[in-house]
Amino acid sequence: MQSLTPQQIRASFVNASRREAAQAPLPPHLDDLAWEDHDVLGWVDPKSPRRAYVVVPTGERVVGLLLRTTNPSAQRPAICTWCEDVKETEDVVLYVAKRAGAAGRNGDTVGTLLHADLSCSRHARRRPGRSEGAGDPEAFIARRVAGLRDRSARFAERVLRAD
Ligand SMILES: [Zn+2]
Repeated sequence: MQSLTPQQIRASFVNASRREAAQAPLPPHLDDLAWEDHDVLGWVDPKSPRRAYVVVPTGERVVGLLLRTTNPSAQRPAICTWCEDVKETEDVVLYVAKRAGAAGRNGDTVGTLLHADLSCSRHARRRPGRSEGAGDPEAFIARRVAGLRDRSARFAERVLRAD
């Protein structure tokens, strides 16, 4: 993804109040982040592990989401709906995003199972196992990166959509 400034990150939040956006902690290591290795950029609030943030590029804009989980440690293995990694299933939790605008103010939310630390970009880039297309690791990774981009963008659009 393209690099973003702290101001751009704060301005991207679509489901946070002005105050929540202003008080959001910034992602760690922002100054020397390898942006090209990220399809989404997510981070957990160091002061509140039930709260996380993720910035998702969509076709039109970069959408920042405030996510909450009631249970920041996974109860049982699950597949993350963004990276769909079948190996890293231990640290997947239910995250809920308030819908943007009036829907969110009325309590409407969208939930999905995601890696608790939002490390999906790294999982999408792992080398394939023997049964996963080890003969063409580049194609395996490209396919998974494309899938992550597509699914995360669609989630962001669901949060944004008014219906
Ligand atoms: Zn994931």
